[in-house]
Formats: sequence, structure tokens, C-alpha cells
Amino acid sequence: MPSTKAYAALSATTPVVPHTIERRECKPHDVQVEILYCGVCHSDLHFAHNDWGMTVYPVVPGHEIVGRVTAVGDQVKNFKPGDLAGIGCLVDSCRVCDNCKDDLEQYCAESAVFSYNGNERDGSGNTYGGYSQSILAHEDFVLRISDKLPLEGVAPLLCAGITTYSPLRHWKVGKGSRVGVLGLGGLGHMAVKLAVSMGAEVTMLSHTASKEADATRLGAHKFVLTSDEEQTKKVAGYFDFILDTVSANHDYNFYIAMLRTNGALVCVGVPPNPANIPAMTLIFGRKSFAGSLIGGLAETQEMLDYCAEHNIVSDVEVIAMKDINTAYERMEKGDVRYRFVIDMATL
Ligand code: NAP
Ligand code: ZN
Ligand code: ZN
Repeated sequence: MPSTKAYAALSATTPVVPHTIERRECKPHDVQVEILYCGVCHSDLHFAHNDWGMTVYPVVPGHEIVGRVTAVGDQVKNFKPGDLAGIGCLVDSCRVCDNCKDDLEQYCAESAVFSYNGNERDGSGNTYGGYSQSILAHEDFVLRISDKLPLEGVAPLLCAGITTYSPLRHWKVGKGSRVGVLGLGGLGHMAVKLAVSMGAEVTMLSHTASKEADATRLGAHKFVLTSDEEQTKKVAGYFDFILDTVSANHDYNFYIAMLRTNGALVCVGVPPNPANIPAMTLIFGRKSFAGSLIGGLAETQEMLDYCAEHNIVSDVEVIAMKDINTAYERMEKGDVRYRFVIDMATL
């Protein structure tokens, strides 16, 4: 089995360090990709630190992967060596359950196989993600990448992009919708760009006053500093849809109060503590509290094509692989504008 250079977390309390992993040989339906750029998602940090109690070490994080195809199995139809390719959060699923048949592989009844810390369906072990030289996946889980956009800005679309695009589409956000985006980080900045491109009126809800100018530059029509009572009063009962991207514990009821009748607060951020929401909060106003997980393969391709057509990429700070631990520290402090992306040539 080919040895592959990577970076891994070996425990919850130690830094991410150089590590060698074994990848499988290229199978008949596999596409092998040399990784050029890998985005750094807050989920990488949650997994490295075992925030959700499900990490299997060593973990090689990274699920915002773009690169170039170096080899394909003899049954592969849609990729050839030299093509650009992307791999996001999923590398496999059962393909036959209702969700898989409905292009919702992320909700596969047998559990989708995630790009890292996932269990290979053939029992061969744990998956390893994009903080590595190369990766392989069945071609059904490999995305086509446009050569029109800067690749480092495209990488974060594979998670931050689809995670925000999918709920915006599902809840039919468009012209006339009043959208609140809660938290201006990797997911939040993509949510602002995408919701604005779909024609919505977008308000940035942030606890960081210094992000106001950026929110405006990203296209937000309004900015509300969530610690300022006067500002939050003005959006009581206001929004049709709030996308909550916050990674830390916070009071959901405070934001549900900002929904108008029939409004929905949709969580994509995953704070450590469970939500505590009295039923009354939802009953008065027929409000919904929901969640959404990344997106299926067809919708991810749709999002990538949409972004290529509308010239939408992530605002990135490109870093060297060795600086990943500093990037994590900065991310924890909210000091990222708005996605770290690793230049894998520095591995
Ligand atoms: P990120 O770049 O670190 O952004 C998180 C943002 O949350 C921060 O920029 C900050 O925005 C806000 N925030 C942080 N701490 C806060 C606090 N104590 N109180 C209030 N706001 C706070 O993270 P990300 O990569 O966008 O990921 C966000 C969350 O989504 C993570 O939990 C991640 O695991 C999860 N996620 C879920 C999915 C899914 O499929 N559902 C996919 C990817 C990621 P402001 O400074 O503007 O307040
Ligand atoms: Zn992610
Ligand atoms: Zn399935």
C-alpha cells in the first residue's frame, strides 16, 4: 500500500504533527488526486481536539480538497489524469437507501463515509482527510472543478460553500427573503455571499464589532452587533430565515425571538452543549428550529457550477502546512478572515 505524507493529530491534547499514512491502491472506480489546496474547517479543530467525543486517533483532518487527478481505475468514466478535481466531506455511502437514491448521501441510512474519521465500508479501517499529499475516492464522490476560479478560493466551497448553499436552497431563500447570518467565520462569509447572490436581503449578526466593514464588503445589507441591545431590538420578529454558523455555546432563544411568524432558525454550527428551547418559543409564531448537514454530491456539484457562473469564491489566507497549529489557535480566537487554506506544496 502506498505510503503518503500527511499531518495528523495523535491525541486531543497534542498538536497536529507530520505523520505517514497508508492509502489503498487505486481500485477500478477510484480517482486518485494529488492535493493542491486544503481548506481548514472549524470541524477539523473539533475533531483534532475530540470536542464531540468521537475522534479515532490518529486523525488526518481536511475535507475541503482540490487537486489534480494523477491516476484513475480502469472503470472510471468521468475523470482522466491531469483533470482538476475536488473532494469534500464524503467519500462513500450505501447508494441504495432512500436518502442515497434522493441525492442526500450525507443522510445515508447506513451512515455516509466521511472523508476523515470515517469507517470504510469494506471494513479496511479509518479514512484520512486532506492534510495529505494525495487521496482516492470512488468517482461518484469526486467533483468537477472549474479552471475559471482561483483554486485556493474554491477549496472552502467543498464544505463551507455546500453547508451554507444547501439550507439556503432547501428553505427557498431568494428575492424578498429577510435572511440573518449568525457568525461571520468560514461558513458565515460564504452564507452572506450566497444569500446575497440569490437576491435576499441579508443581515450579518455578529458578536465582533470590527467585522462590520467586512460584512458590508461581502455584500451584507445590514449589520447587527449581537451584544448591543439597541441594535438587536430593531430586528425582533424580523427574519424569515436565520442561518446559525456559531461554533461556541450560545442561547438559541435569543435568536429565535428575531424570527417573524413562520420563520426558521437553521443550525449548521455545532456547539458542544445541547440546545435548551422551550416549546412556547416556537409555538407562538409557528417557528421552526432545524439543522442541516453539508449537502449531497449532486447539490455540491450544482453549488460549484453556480459559484463558477457567479464568480463566487471564499476569502482565504493561504498558509504553510507547518503553521496549522497557529491557524487553529487563531481560529479559536475568531482571528480568521475568513478561511485558512493550506498550500499543500508546503507539506
Ligand atoms: P469559524 O470560521 O471559526 O467561525 C465561527 C464563527 O462563530 C466565528 O467567526 C464567530 O463569528 C462566531 N463565534 C465564535 N465564537 C463565538 C462565541 N463565543 N459567541 C458567539 N459567536 C461566536 O468556524 P466555521 O468553520 O465557519 O464552522 C462553524 C461551525 O459549523 C463549527 O461548529 C463547525 O463544526 C460547523 N460545521 C458544520 C457543518 C454542517 O454540515 N452542519 C459543516 C461545516 C462546519 P462572529 O465573530 O461574527 O460572531
Ligand atoms: Zn467542514
Ligand atoms: Zn445510503
